[in-house]
Amino acid sequence: MATTSYLYHAMDLKGYRHLRTEFRGGRVIYHIERARGKRACAECEAPAHEVKLAGRFERTFLGLPVGFKPQEIVLHGHLQVCSRCEARVREPIPFAAGKSRCLRALGRYIVGMCGITTIKHVAQLLGLSWDVVKDLFKADLERRHKRKPLRKVRYLAVDEFATHKGHKYMTTAMDLETGEILFAHEGKDAAALIPFLKRLKRAKVQLKAVAMDMSEAYAKAVREVYGDTVDIVHDTFHVVALASKAIDDTRKDLVRKLEGEERQVIKGTKFLLLRSKENLTEDGMTRLMKLMATNEPLYQVYLLKEDLRTFWRLPNEAAGKAFLDRWTSEARATGNKHFAKLAETLDTHRPGLLAYFKHWISTAKLEGTNNKIKVLKRQAYGFRDMAFFKLRLYFLHERSIMMPG
Ligand SMILES: [Zn+2]
Repeated sequence: MATTSYLYHAMDLKGYRHLRTEFRGGRVIYHIERARGKRACAECEAPAHEVKLAGRFERTFLGLPVGFKPQEIVLHGHLQVCSRCEARVREPIPFAAGKSRCLRALGRYIVGMCGITTIKHVAQLLGLSWDVVKDLFKADLERRHKRKPLRKVRYLAVDEFATHKGHKYMTTAMDLETGEILFAHEGKDAAALIPFLKRLKRAKVQLKAVAMDMSEAYAKAVREVYGDTVDIVHDTFHVVALASKAIDDTRKDLVRKLEGEERQVIKGTKFLLLRSKENLTEDGMTRLMKLMATNEPLYQVYLLKEDLRTFWRLPNEAAGKAFLDRWTSEARATGNKHFAKLAETLDTHRPGLLAYFKHWISTAKLEGTNNKIKVLKRQAYGFRDMAFFKLRLYFLHERSIMMPG
């Protein structure tokens, strides 16, 4: 009786009777049987006294360990024959975690451990295979992901990252207020995002704005699903990246054009030009100044690039408008084709740039998860199980230290 009670409270074995305990090979083995009163018919729900027992079967399950000592449960099961509906079925096993040979109580313990250490370590510690631990962990993430409420989402950030060294991409969408990645899908075109936006719309989500880069794809997806009711905000990260690219293209043009010593001075300066001023060392700053002093065209566009970053520190839309007017005309006045092109891009995306002063959002928080995503990508399982990879993304916000094993 005492053991029945122990198994009930410690291992959640409710409705079972303890038969005997064995100690074998360093293990504790409990033999159990379904309590008589609990054998209602699984088909027609006829009460236990209408159910007769026929054949027997035995199955062994893994319970919670005590320290390093495994505890096993041997179920002495029966074939149940119902005298009301004549069903002949094996008794159900409600205490098993999914289809595994682990107890649900052990399953919960495993999931809890996966939250603080690697799958590999959990498997090692409990003497289980990597796949068993992973499957239990995955099933739990799946359950929790399905229960996630979407109703309160107001601000999204959308972006892509490369999954296979720059030729395959994945699109992700983050709730900017909770920091949760809500959605991930292969591809970086409108089609990758539209199903998710439709799901939000069906859930009656009052979306206000989406932060994104200046490419057509995501904007098109938002327009297609939400029309003009949701604002698009082009964020600082991607715009400044375009300015950096323009300055690097300028540098490459000069390297091609110049010869001798002048060429040598410019050649190794990529990082000086791309890094923001405040992130340069003293030595870097000196070299940058020297470069600027000898190269007027480069100096001009460098100032433009640094200037552009201040757009997102302006107080309001009016100041933003004035800034864009001035910046684009200065960019065109340099006669630099790369910056003229950037001015053109900024003009075309003006509403999305100015929308910043209405919502004050960016994709920065989503970019901030890039390192955690990199850690995930490096894992041994790689992308063998894409569904599992996505589920890990959906719960990335829960862990400050990422050790996915
Ligand atoms: Zn029945």
